[in-house]
Amino acid sequence: KKEIPLQDYSHDDQDGKQLQGSAVHPLLSELKKALERSEFELYYQPYYGLRKEMIGLEALIRWNHPTDGVLSPASFLSIAEETGFILEMENWVLAQSIKQIKELHNSGMENLRLSVNISAQQLAKEDFPDRIEKLLQELSFSPDKLTLEITERFLIKKYTIGVLNRLKNLGIRISIDDFGVSYSSLQYIRDLSVDELKIDRSFISSIEKDVNSQKIVEMLIMLGHQLNLNIVAEGVEKETQLDLLRRMNCHSVQGFLFSKPLPIENFMGQKCRQQII
Ligand code: C2E
Ligand code: MG
Ligand code: MG
Ligand code: MG
Repeated sequence: KKEIPLQDYSHDDQDGKQLQGSAVHPLLSELKKALERSEFELYYQPYYGLRKEMIGLEALIRWNHPTDGVLSPASFLSIAEETGFILEMENWVLAQSIKQIKELHNSGMENLRLSVNISAQQLAKEDFPDRIEKLLQELSFSPDKLTLEITERFLIKKYTIGVLNRLKNLGIRISIDDFGVSYSSLQYIRDLSVDELKIDRSFISSIEKDVNSQKIVEMLIMLGHQLNLNIVAEGVEKETQLDLLRRMNCHSVQGFLFSKPLPIENFMGQKCRQQII
């Protein structure tokens, strides 16, 4: 059985350490087969404005494994990253999510936004903006309806800044995911003119008990208003957390309190915000 060597996925390694070209991960061929056999599926988790109006959906990948059931990204994402399979996977995620959101647009939810999580490997690819531009044209999808969520620890690298700026010039929105953990830096906000910050769930889960969390969230929301950044509170699970966020005038919220990630059919015919600010 012939394995595809890692070199064929030549991705720039983020942490400077070299991947071992000879050691092909045994799960790589499993992942490739899964893609061929259409075992991946996108679930969508909505995010809302403070009046509980739906603004958009975030695409989250699942693997409908033939024997192990529905697998969450935690169980295969790091292998996908290590092997470079993530690039192929995300190409599929982008195309599939755009097609599915278009169906909702066509059913009358034309203001609905789409958010897609993008890996560091993808951002390290110089041709990523060209590929995404082509995809948006092919599927005639408006770039301003697309937000790319980027985990902030990856933004540090210089070479991603050019790619991010080109994505922004296409009209795509850039969001910093899990903001507040790992290498948080205000530099991105200053230099990259990102459109959105998603405050990490850990701040929201402790917002009631921990006064520091509360003050930090409050400060980030104020920063959002000052700099015209959309602030999303991630992982809102309790009405009491929502009450606090409302009082702080947080822009948007997402979490199990409103909805878990669900297959696309569940959103057909739902109301979404009429006008996008
Ligand atoms: P994320 O982008 O920060 O997505 C939020 C995760 O938190 C999701 O987990 C979601 O199900 C979960 N979540 C949302 N609300 C709540 C809540 O109220 N409470 C709790 N406890 N959890 C909540 P999921 O779907 O397992 O995804 C995990 C991570 O995997 C994502 O974190 C994202 O970084 C990554 N991921 C998912 N799909 C993709 C993809 O297509 N491409 C890439 N590169 N990464 C992906
Ligand atoms: Mg995300
Ligand atoms: Mg997140
Ligand atoms: Mg997260």
